Amino acid sequence: MSAWDHYHLPGTVAEALTHLVRYGGAAKVVAGGTDLLLDLEQGHRPRVAALVDVTRIPELTKISAADGWVYVGAAVTHTAIVASPLLAERATCLVESCGVIGGPQVRNVATLGGNVAHALPAGDGTLSLVALEAEAEVAGPLGREWRPVRALYGGPGQSTLAAAEIIVQFRFRGGDLTQHEASAFRRIMRPQGVALPILGLAVWVALDGPAIRAARIALGPAGPTPMRALAAEAGLAGRALDEAALEQAIEQVWSAAQLRTSAHRATAAYRREMVAVLLRRALTLAVARARTGVAVPQGLGE
Ligand SMILES: Cc1cc2nc3c(=O)[nH]c(=O)nc-3n(C[C@H](O)[C@H](O)[C@H](O)COP(=O)(O)OP(=O)(O)OC[C@H]3O[C@@H](n4cnc5c(N)ncnc54)[C@H](O)[C@@H]3O)c2cc1C
Repeated sequence: MSAWDHYHLPGTVAEALTHLVRYGGAAKVVAGGTDLLLDLEQGHRPRVAALVDVTRIPELTKISAADGWVYVGAAVTHTAIVASPLLAERATCLVESCGVIGGPQVRNVATLGGNVAHALPAGDGTLSLVALEAEAEVAGPLGREWRPVRALYGGPGQSTLAAAEIIVQFRFRGGDLTQHEASAFRRIMRPQGVALPILGLAVWVALDGPAIRAARIALGPAGPTPMRALAAEAGLAGRALDEAALEQAIEQVWSAAQLRTSAHRATAAYRREMVAVLLRRALTLAVARARTGVAVPQGLGE
């Protein structure tokens, strides 16, 4: 028996919403299906009356820039993100994080919107969106609105999206290398790891001469939702990234992060060590990119 009765392929957001409303909560949005179909087939979710596939809706599959904003459609695949010269420059951390998700077969179909709506605190694409301070345009029966990406997280695996809501696209400002802004993403994962990293960390920085004007640090899993290290960010502002600044930032992230031991992945102590390693690497790289104005994504998967 299939885990769903009907499969719809709407061509517009309005059509997709009509389906979702009609099923009154008994339908699910599907994009690449790499999280949802496994959950349905393995019985981790109750059977659904219908799946509403949003991957054929043109406005969900675009990457563009206008008026200082960069826009990425929710159904853009990780492969398309990695192939985008615009994102390589303006959102290097996003390219680096989406470039290590799964293998090529997963990245070819899995989407950024699915990564966010699945709501894991260490979703790789998600962490970069949080460091970029991205917003999500959410469409529902009453209209559309922009919400901070962080507001879409209610807890591990719990999205705050209502059943009849669709993420249309994401947007963020900054990441302008000519303005000495840049980002970087680093993660640690077991080689045999399937979907969940041991730790992922994304940073965004803006320089004012040799000093950091502003910094943003996102990491996970370090709590029930993707974490922003606000105290460490504030501590970096106004100073150059020397050894003392790095050590202070590491201490401040350690104080704020809720690092746990998980049965199959890592101990809390190992994660603590990795916070120091990843933060040092990502901050140093992002600052070098912002200083030189050159950002070439690194560490992408085969
Ligand atoms: C082998 C394997 C390896 C993986 N490796 C990684 C990894 O390294 N890092 C990582 O972060 N993830 C990994 N994943 C998880 C998964 O591939 C990603 O989270 C992916 O981005 C999910 O996107 P999707 O389009 O497949 O989502 P789907 O499975 O289609 O949907 C996931 C959830 O999001 C909802 N949804 C999808 N699109 C929208 C939308 N536009 N609006 C509202 N709700 C929506 C669905 O209803 C569902 O609840 C892996 C998965 C597999 C199977």
